[in-house]
Amino acid sequence: MPQHILLPEDEPAIADTLLYALRGESFEVTHVRLVSEALAAFRAKPPDLAILDVGLPDGNGFDVCRAIRKTSELPIVFLTARGEEIDRILGLELGADDYVTKPFSPREVCARVKAILRRSAGNGSAPAGPVAEGGLQLDEAAQRIRCGGEPLALTRYEYGLLATLLKRPQRIFSRAELMDLVWGDAPDTSERTVDAHIKLLRAKLRAGGLEADLIQTHRNMGYSLQTPR
Ligand code: CA
Repeated sequence: MPQHILLPEDEPAIADTLLYALRGESFEVTHVRLVSEALAAFRAKPPDLAILDVGLPDGNGFDVCRAIRKTSELPIVFLTARGEEIDRILGLELGADDYVTKPFSPREVCARVKAILRRSAGNGSAPAGPVAEGGLQLDEAAQRIRCGGEPLALTRYEYGLLATLLKRPQRIFSRAELMDLVWGDAPDTSERTVDAHIKLLRAKLRAGGLEADLIQTHRNMGYSLQTPR
């Protein structure tokens, strides 16, 4: 059965390019132009993933994301305008899995969509990875981090950030280093993005039952992962 993608996007040129690329990869796509249509389509036939344009004629993609998140954990990718850092941060704080900055290549969007769907599908029984620190296990082959044996639901950059810290416990990484190591494909990332992701990661680790705050802030220096000794 083809996987179903919901795509609210009001710019015909962008919608057409994405529809062509996604359908070419055998996805079933429901394309709509309005927030109201997106919510109706979501209720009528819950998709496997949503690609949300931020600016829509009757509202924005954040409204759609909030409404979806009330009942569903389905993967969400935002399409944001170049340089709109605030949109990215807000999108990630609302629980988006990834974002793509316009203008984008449809192939890149397809690749990200497939990676996210693979990751969200594979909650099976992968073996524990070689790195295990402070109750966390890194499985690089599966691009997954387990907390007490349970895989953490992480977005792409959250995974990259935590994996980087986990591989070198106690080492302090500056925000600039983390931007290079984790956001190498997004050169206009700012330090605020790093801080926003650290905040999200801490919340997820707490939710995963880790008592100690594993991620330490070092004033004027950066972040490290402190493992209990
Ligand atoms: Ca738009």
